[in-house]
Amino acid sequence: MERIGCAVIGAGVVGLAVARALALAGREVLILEAADDFGTGISARNSEVIHAGLYYPPGSLKALCCAEGRRVLYAYCEERGIAHRRCGKLIVAATEDQRGELESIAARGRANGAENLRLLTAAEAQALEPELSCVAALLSPDTGIVDSHGLMLALLGDAENHGAILALRSPVRGGEVADAGFILDIGGDTPMQLATDVVVNCAGLGAQAVAGALRGLAPEHVPPLHLAKGNYFTLAGRAPFSRLVYPVPEPGGLGVHLTLDLGGQARFGPDVEWIAEEDYRVAPARGDAFYGAIRRYWPRLPDGALQPGYAGIRPKLGGPGSAAADFRIDGPAQHGVAGLVNFFGIESPGLTSALALAERVGELLHA
Ligand SMILES: Cc1cc2nc3c(=O)[nH]c(=O)nc-3n(C[C@H](O)[C@H](O)[C@H](O)COP(=O)(O)OP(=O)(O)OC[C@H]3O[C@@H](n4cnc5c(N)ncnc54)[C@H](O)[C@@H]3O)c2cc1C
Repeated sequence: MERIGCAVIGAGVVGLAVARALALAGREVLILEAADDFGTGISARNSEVIHAGLYYPPGSLKALCCAEGRRVLYAYCEERGIAHRRCGKLIVAATEDQRGELESIAARGRANGAENLRLLTAAEAQALEPELSCVAALLSPDTGIVDSHGLMLALLGDAENHGAILALRSPVRGGEVADAGFILDIGGDTPMQLATDVVVNCAGLGAQAVAGALRGLAPEHVPPLHLAKGNYFTLAGRAPFSRLVYPVPEPGGLGVHLTLDLGGQARFGPDVEWIAEEDYRVAPARGDAFYGAIRRYWPRLPDGALQPGYAGIRPKLGGPGSAAADFRIDGPAQHGVAGLVNFFGIESPGLTSALALAERVGELLHA
């Protein structure tokens, strides 16, 4: 049986960032990816926003990793020539009773290290975005957008340049905690077993299935998984906005917001649709609710301007109605298995946080 140093399961943005960090630290790394390409999971189906860190409870992993991840990500994009733009974002209060919420978001954002936040009057916000309707807004100039595929390509390139190997069509079906390390069962065209000293489970929506199939890890260390689909609708024609525009958050998500890609194409969403199984179809009828939500901040959205776009699925740790859960990075201190790190619930701001999450793996494995 072949033996390697570290198996990283999943080649999304988190797995690739982890593989890069481990390879840069001189470790032998094999990335095991079930799909036939890297970056086709959650990392390919999101808003591509570099978040400033406004929404998360101070001190939480989401707050810490978002703040740290954002700073490192902007620097990494500059250094590696990854397309990105610090376009800024406005969170808008549509009614007087939402003003207080804006102030709380600003206070939380400052506590989380978000810089240069500014509360704006309606007139100040409209001077920036003339089509906007609001009673007040919060400007976050350090929010931006990034080419997520370009980011993953750079992470993979760094990892490979430091000896990491990516194995595609290599689904991890299960495994066991062995006397020294792990034995993994790998499916695909040529099923095989592989011995490894370290396992980092970055399987996104598959993380619970991977952890649950690892004999020797107690089941209480595998949290439940709830799927919250987010549907996007795209705008026909160009949007008359140069910044991202968000309403105040709604339960389970950030509200139907306007984001831009690097080509200037506007997309709206994601909404929140709790589902039982992975399904990426966007039902055109869901667009009806989008018009009302968007017109609260952009009243001149033309009739018929929205078309179904794409959908992503959030790997939630809590179901409908439960409080937003934090990221879970379970290392040996949590589950008692040396050499194992499980990432669970890496929803937004996971893209922003990827480089910071990866740094934590090295710390956990040494602990
Ligand atoms: C709708 C939506 C919008 C979002 N918007 C933003 C945003 O604007 N900004 C932001 O910072 N974050 C955002 N996020 C969060 C961000 O996209 C994710 O946190 C991040 O992409 C998760 O990356 P990952 O590597 O953990 O998962 P993935 O990208 O899903 O990667 C996991 C990989 O593991 C593979 N895999 C699964 N099971 C196995 C197995 N058994 N064996 C081998 N491989 C396996 C999968 O094929 C996949 O390639 C958003 C998320 C969603 C759903």
